[in-house]
Amino acid sequence: MSKAKSICDRVYAVGGSSLSVPEDAFVYLVDAGSELVLVDSGVGYSASRIEGNIRSLGFEPSRVWHIIATHCHIDHIGGLFTWKERYGSKIIAHELDRAAIEGENNALTAASMYGVDYKPVKVDNLLAGQAQELTLGDMKFNFLHTPGHTPGSICVYIDTRDGRVLFGQDIHGPFSPDWGSDLNMWRDSMQKLLALRADVLCEGHAGVYRGDKVSKYIESYLNRYS
Ligand SMILES: [Zn+2]
Ligand SMILES: [Zn+2]
Repeated sequence: MSKAKSICDRVYAVGGSSLSVPEDAFVYLVDAGSELVLVDSGVGYSASRIEGNIRSLGFEPSRVWHIIATHCHIDHIGGLFTWKERYGSKIIAHELDRAAIEGENNALTAASMYGVDYKPVKVDNLLAGQAQELTLGDMKFNFLHTPGHTPGSICVYIDTRDGRVLFGQDIHGPFSPDWGSDLNMWRDSMQKLLALRADVLCEGHAGVYRGDKVSKYIESYLNRYS
């Protein structure tokens, strides 16, 4: 397994199918100065590998004070329990995916597809509405509600020395009525992402896109589901 890698100013990949275990969505680490922030947490049983990857960058996992759960699927939220138990990390998620993350509706997590027992956690910081800002460490994190893949899917962007970095975890879908997917909402969400004119896109399964490849990637999926 390869180790963690630097993506740009402030941002690292510390988990993912080639970095931790094959079932993991990408887990991104933001060095927010006085604290570390994770974007998603992997499927669960990879938590120790992700910790090791964080240490390999010279960071201490106990400084992960916040984890952003981009949506309620197991390959993104399975590790939340371990981080909370070991380090007391606080979970940020949108209220429309809260019930699944807190264990009230296991079908929405898709855990059975992965053959994983999901250990639920309480969400500490519930996002509501279309857009919200939070200062974590010394950075401003901008949260956008981007429903479509799931009702409570969110995307996050930060402005760094290398430009605007967008975390868009499951831009590509897939879509299923079992999780409350909605293609019309998804199309509107993709337009919101295009309007951000991000310089770097950190995607949940496809990896990292830069420059004009960011909009090309999003537009290719809009064309596919037009
Ligand atoms: Zn995913
Ligand atoms: Zn998903």
